Amino acid sequence: MWKIKVKIIRRWKQYTAANGETIEMIVIDGKGHKIQATIKNSLTGLFRDQLGEGDTRILINFGLFHSAGMYRTTNHPYRIAFIPNTKVRKCEIPLPYELDGFSPVKFGDILDGTLDDNYLVDVLGQLVNVTQLEDIPVNGKDTKKITLELRDELDQSLSVVLWGAFAEHINNNIQAAPETIVVCAVQFGKIKVWKNNRSLSNAYNCSAVVLNPELTGVEEFKSREDFFVHTPRRTICEVKWSREIAKCIVMATIFSIDGDMGWYYWSCSVCAKKVTHILLEGGDDDEATEFLPLTFQCTKCNIDNPVLVPRFKLHLRVTDHTGDTTFMLWDNLTQQIIGQTSTQLAPPEHNEIQEEDLIPVVVTNVIGKTFLFKICIDKEHIVYKHNTYKVMKIITDADMISEFSVLDSPHGTIDTVGCIGGGGSFVSSPSEGTLLLTDVDGPSGSSISPDSTQAKRKVSTPKASIDTDEQTSTSKKICHVKVKLEKIEKTKEVKE
Ligand SMILES: [Zn+2]
Repeated sequence: MWKIKVKIIRRWKQYTAANGETIEMIVIDGKGHKIQATIKNSLTGLFRDQLGEGDTRILINFGLFHSAGMYRTTNHPYRIAFIPNTKVRKCEIPLPYELDGFSPVKFGDILDGTLDDNYLVDVLGQLVNVTQLEDIPVNGKDTKKITLELRDELDQSLSVVLWGAFAEHINNNIQAAPETIVVCAVQFGKIKVWKNNRSLSNAYNCSAVVLNPELTGVEEFKSREDFFVHTPRRTICEVKWSREIAKCIVMATIFSIDGDMGWYYWSCSVCAKKVTHILLEGGDDDEATEFLPLTFQCTKCNIDNPVLVPRFKLHLRVTDHTGDTTFMLWDNLTQQIIGQTSTQLAPPEHNEIQEEDLIPVVVTNVIGKTFLFKICIDKEHIVYKHNTYKVMKIITDADMISEFSVLDSPHGTIDTVGCIGGGGSFVSSPSEGTLLLTDVDGPSGSSISPDSTQAKRKVSTPKASIDTDEQTSTSKKICHVKVKLEKIEKTKEVKE
């Protein structure tokens, strides 16, 4: 008698003339193996309410039959069939949320026919084009149709044709999507072959098509697009001389932490704003204040003595081969690079004697590390020569950083002397500043021109294909990625 613990990752109704309406599910076990399960028409009433998408269940006593046909949802050789005596039990410990079974394939493997079109596939790509919603007559009935063009990390394009409710759903959601980068995930898509051209389509109701989904690998895909494609890359020298309000990516090494500004501050727990210290009545007498309790105010919430929460605010001194500057990190990004929260490191409560100069070792450990920083060049930097830049995002993943540094071709980088010399001549003449930028984007700065970025993107490695069962920790994930990298390189060698 079979007994398995599984999570339901997809559930849909299917109607066929032979079998009537059945409930179909894709379930996944703790090791990431997927299998399809079918509840036949006569049993749907018995099980319908016990099995929702996302639920973890123990299934006991069921039948198995061979998986076959042109719409195979998993590569499992069998499918599960519920029987009247099948038992469904709830679980105390559900399978992890991250276990979504999403394993996107390379577009190239669809397009060149490597993948067997009898098996449904997952894909993930950036949405680069969408057609108008059309009405197409199918079996004498008008059916909605929309075609999406997706681009993957290897810069290959795939057409995804969606029909019926899928077409309408995506059409409505595209109108509503506020983000500049729209990532589209298709789960259980059907590879269609037409005159040797391959595209993807929804497989009846089984497929799922989601924009900007919370699925394995999506965040990484979006970061990659943001850091490698959409945001221009700048050296520190270029950042300092920029006359343009812009966001850019800088690869820099932290060489010290500026402790003058402290490394954390006390904030209002409600709005996160820094609290201000206010003097009590008679507080101008130094001796008196020593014995008075400190009073704080949140000027945003307009309340006295709000609940205080420490938050990081770190000023990193950073350098690359062209110069140095200061990057300022707020709480969440500091947490990302040091791996601890401000509450863990700051003193338990506020007291007047703050030894803010003593930066904890776990914080100073970041000195010497190289990261990719997405920063913002603002008006204050251009007009007032402000020299601290706020960091918006950081990439700490070693593989992505090394990939980024490989892209930094020696011919593409601007030589320091040229940059400083050119910039210097524009200090007194802001109107000429645009010329400097033109120069930066010109021949000497070819590493940041869109064309070369495109070309270089082709060396990137598809990391969205990380198996979900290895996703339990960051360290594991990195290991796994490295393994994949080697595999891919080997495959390439064989092909060549
Ligand atoms: Zn507040």
